[in-house]
Amino acid sequence: MNVHDSDKIVGILSESDHGTADSIEEADVIVLNTCSIRQKAEQKFYSELGRLRTIKKNNPDLKIAVAGCIAQQQGDAIFKKFPYVDFIFGPDNIDSLQTWISSRIQSTDNRQQKTALRENPGYQTKILPMKRIGRVRAWVSIIYGCDNFCAYCVVPYTRGRERSRPCKDIYDEVVSLTGQGFKEITLLGQNVNSYGKNLPEKIDFSDLLRMIHEIMGLQRIRFVTSHPRDISEKLINTMRDLPKMCKHIHLPVQSGSDKILASMNRGYSYRDYKNKIDMLKAAIPDIAVTTDIITGFPGETDEDFQLTVNALSEIEYDGIFAFKYSERPDTKALALPDHIDETIKSERLSHILKLQEVITFQKNMEMEGQVLEILVEGMSETDDKNLTGRTLTNKIVNFRGDPDDIGNIVMIKVKEARQHSLHGEKVKSRK
Ligand code: SAM
Ligand code: SF4
Repeated sequence: MNVHDSDKIVGILSESDHGTADSIEEADVIVLNTCSIRQKAEQKFYSELGRLRTIKKNNPDLKIAVAGCIAQQQGDAIFKKFPYVDFIFGPDNIDSLQTWISSRIQSTDNRQQKTALRENPGYQTKILPMKRIGRVRAWVSIIYGCDNFCAYCVVPYTRGRERSRPCKDIYDEVVSLTGQGFKEITLLGQNVNSYGKNLPEKIDFSDLLRMIHEIMGLQRIRFVTSHPRDISEKLINTMRDLPKMCKHIHLPVQSGSDKILASMNRGYSYRDYKNKIDMLKAAIPDIAVTTDIITGFPGETDEDFQLTVNALSEIEYDGIFAFKYSERPDTKALALPDHIDETIKSERLSHILKLQEVITFQKNMEMEGQVLEILVEGMSETDDKNLTGRTLTNKIVNFRGDPDDIGNIVMIKVKEARQHSLHGEKVKSRK
């Protein structure tokens, strides 16, 4: 979501005649788009901002803006501590960069802060200019904010209440993107499954998928992220029935322990979660499932942790994102008893990651010899002789090919499984 916001920031800057500088020293404007989901991201931001002090000393005309979730939460504190920051704007106010860049940038009195959470944020009421990378895959926001208030999470405080974007705006954006040649759309939101709840029209996420599915030229649809509680039978059937739907779901479980899930305020038990996975696998047998895990949430005993390990072994995810629990301002988890020692959090994290490495590699090995449909995205970042693309199940596949294939769907026979990708060879047909 932050990367998508950065695309909007770059789009606004490009429209106001700001190109990309070759180095920080040559920049006229620096925008730091921040993430506050975990403490580590916040620390990185503060050390980067500290580094800019000297750059600004050597170039007093430089303007520094801070965007994103840290800007939203720490606005005043940033201004006080870093007198050389000129502009602060939160995720709901990305459009305010347009006005600041065009008027205030010329002025010496340009310290401004735009962090009010808005019922109709600028990006919801108008389509902001956007600089998208590549011409194959694009993200499209469908829902902003979150109402779930998981006990560990800052998102409801930094991105505000859940607001669905009108379906006509989403439809028009996807039509425009396919007109520009984009082939795959990822619908974005903190909880896409609850799409439509606050809209005047009667529409839910499945209806939205069906609407978008009709758009000519669009070949693939993905979405992220889903909340396990809101996965409905209707959605599963829609995913099964629409041929353009990719066969992958990212369904964050967070923990395998019911006690921890309740204290996280997740709204489901492990059994509920597993039932949803079983329903998905019954409807779409080759679906890939990925997840998020938090280790060392307050009160997590060895037994609770073992239940998470058991969940990983039982479900056999295609991939996971795992994190140590990180204390975040304003969140309910701060007040919970029995916070876990950092060393134990780290040990549990590395245990989980090691276990998953084996499962992921095993799953990749099972794909050797299979012929798969790949949407070619571009040249491989690690080998400029290879092309890269993704399967319907979101696995990365590299292969020798012709750059003319970029944007096309090709059939690839998997020759070799690697830890994080597959290597294959182009074939003419499924045979
Ligand atoms: N909305 C999505 C959901 O409900 O799963 C994802 C939101 S969050 C941006 C992405 C992931 O970051 C979460 O699934 C969670 O695993 C992790 N996360 C959020 N807050 C965290 C915290 N305080 N400490 C560690 N991990 C955290
Ligand atoms: Fe955060 Fe929970 Fe909302 Fe996801 S659902 S954004 S984890 S509060």
